[in-house]
Amino acid sequence: MKIILAKSAGFCFGVKRAIQIAEMTAKNYRNVYMSGDIVHNEIVIERLKQLGIKKIKKLGSGKGKIFLVRAHGESKKKIDRANNLGYKVIDATCPMVKEIHRIAQREEANNRKIIIVGDKNHDEVLGILGQLKYKSYVIEPNKKFIFELEKLKNKPCSVVVQSTQDLEGVKKIFKILKRYIKDIRFFNTICKPTQQKQIEIKKLAKENDLIIVIGSKTSANTKRLYQIAKSINRKSYWIEDKKEIRNKWFKSINSIGITAGASTPMEVIKDVINIFDKF
Ligand code: SF4
Repeated sequence: MKIILAKSAGFCFGVKRAIQIAEMTAKNYRNVYMSGDIVHNEIVIERLKQLGIKKIKKLGSGKGKIFLVRAHGESKKKIDRANNLGYKVIDATCPMVKEIHRIAQREEANNRKIIIVGDKNHDEVLGILGQLKYKSYVIEPNKKFIFELEKLKNKPCSVVVQSTQDLEGVKKIFKILKRYIKDIRFFNTICKPTQQKQIEIKKLAKENDLIIVIGSKTSANTKRLYQIAKSINRKSYWIEDKKEIRNKWFKSINSIGITAGASTPMEVIKDVINIFDKF
């Protein structure tokens, strides 16, 4: 059986950086808190929990405490609040997400309405919205959004994109927006690692009999990789780890393409690859 692992499988640089910052912070300080998961992967979260990093729902008194900002970023309001409550804020936001914040803030300062293409409840999108002063709009791929456009068609608008969106889906939305809104600027802020993963999964899905995408079911970028793979190769499977692999998938299969989401640790990927030594 031929096994092809995508070069880009697993941690992207933003996730690696956030985990390194979290580990370093846990080493240097005792009371470290985050308002959610540092990245969307249960193994990583458990490891950081073992190091003493705790999750909190609400910010309390911050004296002697650290507030760790996750890779997806946080709203400006929350960071300001953490500072005001006395937390020392350590920022692990991915620089590519920060770049989206900068573009959105700059465009808004130029009196333009901001449209974000992304999943409206995703932490990154909430973080982008939380950088802005005025009402902004979120357009979710594959959902109806024409109603929103009625309100925006005579206003100058700028569009940014959640870093892990699917480029093809976003291009379709850009096309529709262009028809409705006269003065519109587009910023394709899908990050390079995501684009690379998407290019590779398309190729793998075309060239192999079966595709395995590894990553947490809470990871939006893994979901996207799976959807792209499935749209090209119906024998595509999304697993969290080796336990979910089923022998029946591999009848008459000669080659398997494997990729993994940006927050999937290499040890999980290796465990999956090792399974195929038995085939
Ligand atoms: S997927 Fe992209 S934006 Fe998100 S953490 Fe990785 S590099 Fe940064």
